[in-house]
Amino acid sequence: MARYGMLINCEKCIGCYNCVLSCQDEFCGNAYEGYAAAAPIEGHNWIRVIDKERGRFSKVKMAYIPKTCMHCENATCIEAGQDNAVYRRSDGIVIIDPEKAVGQRQIVTACPYRVIEWNEKEQVPQKCNMCAHLLDRGEKEPRCVESCPTGALIFGDLDDEESAISQILKQTASEKLCPEFNLEEKVSYTGLPKRFISGTVVYKDKNECAEDLEIELHNKTETRTTKTNGFGDFEFEGLEASKSFSLKISKPGYKEKRIRCNTSVDIHLGDIYLLPHV
Ligand code: SF4
Ligand code: SF4
Repeated sequence: MARYGMLINCEKCIGCYNCVLSCQDEFCGNAYEGYAAAAPIEGHNWIRVIDKERGRFSKVKMAYIPKTCMHCENATCIEAGQDNAVYRRSDGIVIIDPEKAVGQRQIVTACPYRVIEWNEKEQVPQKCNMCAHLLDRGEKEPRCVESCPTGALIFGDLDDEESAISQILKQTASEKLCPEFNLEEKVSYTGLPKRFISGTVVYKDKNECAEDLEIELHNKTETRTTKTNGFGDFEFEGLEASKSFSLKISKPGYKEKRIRCNTSVDIHLGDIYLLPHV
């Protein structure tokens, strides 16, 4: 028996909303007996894409974080349901029974991820069920995964060592969206946005971009280096939040520059001028 999970690579997500639309196409107005009541035509997002604006003028970047039910091992929604209204299948998928859960509004607020919607017409709580009705008739993936044009969503059997998801999880460091909930989620992430430090280095005397110049960033535990591009731009990505760093820029013939930064926010240092030794 499989144990299904999903890996979401935020670096590949372009915020196109295909996953959201295909989920709505599958469930809005369509009931699947034993799996889900028909979702309303408007208002439900069983998968949503969180837009995250990073940085500020003059350097702003967008990140997108797809979010859906995490199909947790320690699912608080299961505990909240009465009469076995929410249950985990042997393949790990957490299902809200569309008949037993009628009237059980308390299930909605039991999920700390806030991914359960209330269907006012059917008087039932609803959420992603990994398209269990499709998997049970032989489909390989939920609709959201199938429709993602960039491969940002990877679905598969976590217990199958040969599955793509197991292979990637073996080679890549993944994390949970909210590890503090401690729910043993079966949806994991790579590339969740962290913090960046960036800037542009300019030779003051020549008013010229400093191309191919090594930049050093360090704190108590690590040292990273990068090089400026043809426009003098550099960037350090994926930095831990709320940490102090020291940036060092040196070039023979120029005064060394050291800048202290704290990653409580993303940091764009703008133009950094290197002054020649006199
Ligand atoms: S993410 Fe929320 S709804 Fe999904 S299984 Fe976990 S507790 Fe239940
Ligand atoms: S379909 Fe894929 S790329 Fe588009 S928003 Fe969803 S996860 Fe991101």
